[in-house]
Amino acid sequence: MPRLVDVALALPLHRTFRYTVGPDAPTDIAAGTRVVVPFRSRREIGIVVGSHDGDPPDSHAPDAHSPRVLKAVHAWPDAEAAIRPALLETCRWMAQHYVAPLGVALRSALPVLLTSATAPAPPGKRQRVVVIERLLDSLMARDDAFRRSPKQRVVYEYLEHVGGRATAASIISTLGVTDGVVASLAARGLVRIEQESVLRDPFAGRSAASTVRHEPTAAQAAAIERIGARSPGQVTLLHGVTGSGKTLVYLDVLRRVLAEPGSSAIVLVPEIALTPQTVARFRAVFGDQVAVLHSALSDGERLDAWRALHRGERRIAVGARSAIFAPLDRVRAIIVDEEHEASYKQGEAPRYHARDVAIVRARHEGAVVVLGSATPSLDTWARVRGGHVDLVALPDRVGGSTLPSVEVVDLRDSRPPATAAEPSERLPSPEQRPSAARDPFRRVLSAPLERALVERVERGEQAILLLNRRGYSSFLQCNACGDVAACPNCSISLTYHRHPDRLACHYCGHSEAPYTECRRCRHATVRQRGLGTQQVERLLGERMPALRIARMDMDTTTGKWAHADILEKVGRGEVDVLLGTQMIAKGLDFPNVTLVGVIDADVGINLPDFRASERAFQLLAQVAGRAGRGVKGGHVVIQTRMPEHHAIQCAVSHDYHAFVAQELEGRTSPPYPPTTRLANVVVSGLDESAVAEAAQGATQWLNRLVRARSLSGLAVVGPAPCPVDRIKERWRWHLLLRSSDGGLLTSVLQYLATRYELPDRHALRLTIDRDPQSLL
Ligand code: ADP
Ligand code: ZN
Repeated sequence: MPRLVDVALALPLHRTFRYTVGPDAPTDIAAGTRVVVPFRSRREIGIVVGSHDGDPPDSHAPDAHSPRVLKAVHAWPDAEAAIRPALLETCRWMAQHYVAPLGVALRSALPVLLTSATAPAPPGKRQRVVVIERLLDSLMARDDAFRRSPKQRVVYEYLEHVGGRATAASIISTLGVTDGVVASLAARGLVRIEQESVLRDPFAGRSAASTVRHEPTAAQAAAIERIGARSPGQVTLLHGVTGSGKTLVYLDVLRRVLAEPGSSAIVLVPEIALTPQTVARFRAVFGDQVAVLHSALSDGERLDAWRALHRGERRIAVGARSAIFAPLDRVRAIIVDEEHEASYKQGEAPRYHARDVAIVRARHEGAVVVLGSATPSLDTWARVRGGHVDLVALPDRVGGSTLPSVEVVDLRDSRPPATAAEPSERLPSPEQRPSAARDPFRRVLSAPLERALVERVERGEQAILLLNRRGYSSFLQCNACGDVAACPNCSISLTYHRHPDRLACHYCGHSEAPYTECRRCRHATVRQRGLGTQQVERLLGERMPALRIARMDMDTTTGKWAHADILEKVGRGEVDVLLGTQMIAKGLDFPNVTLVGVIDADVGINLPDFRASERAFQLLAQVAGRAGRGVKGGHVVIQTRMPEHHAIQCAVSHDYHAFVAQELEGRTSPPYPPTTRLANVVVSGLDESAVAEAAQGATQWLNRLVRARSLSGLAVVGPAPCPVDRIKERWRWHLLLRSSDGGLLTSVLQYLATRYELPDRHALRLTIDRDPQSLL
C-alpha cells in the first residue's frame, strides 16, 4: 500500500501537495480519488494525482508549503475514483494548455457538491426498487409459496411481467396493495429491496418530440457511413447547411454507441435552454438513457445526474460546455453541435474551450468526435485544411426545401416605397402611414421589411425578427454637449430599459434611475439613442396592434422555463412574430416561419475584435437558416448600413467558402488565429497607473525572456489598454503572445504563470487566456 499521495487542490497555486496515508485508506488508491486533507488550518477536498510506496528522493524540498513533517490525509469519502483515468489525463492536458493549476482544472470536472469541503454531499433523493431475488419457475413451487398469500403472488407475477424490477411506489399504486405485502415478500427472500437514487429530470413531461424515424437521405446515409468508419480519436466536421438534417446523423452515431454494451456518449449543445427541440429529439429516441445537464439544475440535481452517469445508469450525457466532463466510462462518441459557438469557451479559470477538450478527451477514451455546424469556426476549418479533421458535407436541405432568398435593405437610402400595395383589413399597409423621414417606425422596419411582414402574417405564416441588442435604447446622450451615460464601474455606456424604467450596465449589473437633465452641462437635452428589442416591441405593437409578438432576450427569460414557454407558443402558432436577440438564431426548427428580418445587421460587426466579422457572419447565416424550413419556402430581409461588408455579402449569397477565403486573408498580417496561435494576458487592478505599469513590467519581462532564450518564434505584442478598459471597477491592460508553435507558447505561458511576480500580488491580478474567443 502506498504511504504517500500527491494531492491537487483547487487553489491558485501551480503545484501539488504531499500527504501521508493512514491505515484507514482504501487498499487500492487510484489516481482520481477524492480526499479530505488539512491545509493551513482548513480542510480542503483534493484529488489524488499520484502515489508513492516510500519516501521518493525528489520529495521534501522544504519550503513554506511543504514542511518537513508531512500531514496525513484526513478522510477518504469515496469508494472509487471520482475521476477515471481518461478524464484525469484530459484534465492534465487542460491544466497544461490553459495554464491553470491542476486542482482548478479537476474541480471544473466535478459537481460543486463534491468539491466543496463546507457543503457535505447530501445523498441523492432515494427511492426503493423491488427486484426478484429467487425465481419460482415451476407452477407447483409457486402454488406452494403463495397458498396463503395471494396478494404476494400478484405482486410477484407483476414483477415478472415488467422485467424483474419496479419501484415500490409504482407497485403500490398500480396494484393497490399495501407496503406490507412487498415487505413480506422481501422477508421471505423472494424479492430484495434496493435503494436507488432518483434522477430528478427537469425535462420530464416537457417538449415531447415526435419519435418518427425518418429514412436518411442519400447525403445523410453517406455521412453516417463515413463517420461509422472513423477510428477512435478521429475527428469529423459535419458541415451541413441549416436544415440539412444534422440531428439525424447524430442520432445514428448514438444508436451505434448504445448498441455496444457498456459504451457511452456525450452530446454538447451551446445552451440547453436555447435548444429544447434538439434535446427533445434525443430524449424521444433514447428516453431514460439520456441525462440532460440543464443549467437550471440545482446543485443536488446536478449531483444526482453525475452519480447516475458515473454508475452507468445513464449512458448519454447531453449538456452545455461542462458536460464534456460527464463521468462516463468507455466514451465512444462525442458530438459537438454548433461547434462554432463562442459559449463553448469558459470565461474563468480554467479558460477551456469545450470543443478542444472534447478532441483531447476522445483521444484518451478512444471515441470518435463529430463537430457539427452550418458555419464552422475558422479554427476548425483550418484543421480540415491541415488534414487533422475529416470533412463530411450535407450541402442541401432535406425534403427538397431550398435555402431562403436574401434581400439587403440599405438603411442609408431607405425611402418610402413608391408603389401602392393592396390595402388590408387586419394590418395597415406601409403606404397608409406617414413618410419615413418623420416616422420613428421606419428606424425599425424599412418599407420592404414591413411589407414582407404584413404579407406573411396575413397568410398565417410566422416571422422571426432579430435585433442583437436588448433593452429599450442603446444609450442616453446629451444633445448639447454629447455626454453619454456611462457605468461608474466599467467603461461601458449604460443601456436604457423601459420595464423596469432603469439605466443598466450589461457588464456588471449596475443600475440607476434614468435622467433628463445632462449631468455635465445641466441642459435638459438628454436623448435616447440606438435601438433595443424593447423599443422594437413597442413600436411594432403600436403600428400593428393585431400582431401577436413574443419577445425573447435575457430580460424576458429569467424564469426556469421561460425559453421553452415562449418557443412552445411559437410552435403552437400562438405567435406571429418572434422578436429577440441572438438567442433566437440557434437551432430552432419551425416550418411555419417563412420570414426572417434582421433589424440592424451592423450590431457587433465593428467591435475591436478579430472575430467580430466571423461572429456577424455566423449570426446572419444562422438566423437566416430559421426561415423556410417547411414547404412554403422562406425569405430573409437584412437591414444594414454596410451592405458591402463581406460578412453581409456572403450571408446574402449563402457562401461560407467565400467568407472563409476573405476572412482568412484578413487574419494573415498581422496574424490572428487560425493563422497563428494566441494568448491574451490581462493585468487588472483598481489603480489605473499601477495596472499600466505592471502591464509594461510583464511585457519587458517577457521580452527579456525572448531575447535571453532566442525565442524567435514568439512575438510579444503590446501592452495596451483593453478595448473595454474598465470592468467592475478594475482597470484592464493586456498584451498578446503570438506563435505558430503551440508547444513554445505553452512553455512560455507556464513560465510566466509560475515565475513572473506582479509588483503587488494583492492589488493586481494577471490572467492568461489561451486561444481567446474575444479580446474585449
Ligand atoms: P439542422 O440541424 O441541420 O439544421 P435538423 O436536424 O433540425 O437540421 O433537421 C431539419 C428538419 O428536417 C427537421 O424537422 C427534421 O425532422 C427533418 N429531417 C431530417 N432528416 C430527415 C429525413 N431524412 N427525412 C425527412 N425529414 C428529415
Ligand atoms: Zn458596469
